[in-house]
Amino acid sequence: MPTYEYICDACQHKFSLIRSIAEHDREKVSCPKCKGKKVKQTLSLFTAKTNRKS
Ligand SMILES: [Zn+2]
Repeated sequence: MPTYEYICDACQHKFSLIRSIAEHDREKVSCPKCKGKKVKQTLSLFTAKTNRKS
């Protein structure tokens, strides 16, 4: 399952969630720290790391 990384607009708290695409589409993410709904998705570092050249 893909890992999604988010950053909260209100408190700048960064967190990551592992969720299915269906969950990602259906459910709104809220900040686990301040429960804020203004959360921005950032690029997943895990995806970048596994995409290496040989
Ligand atoms: Zn927050």
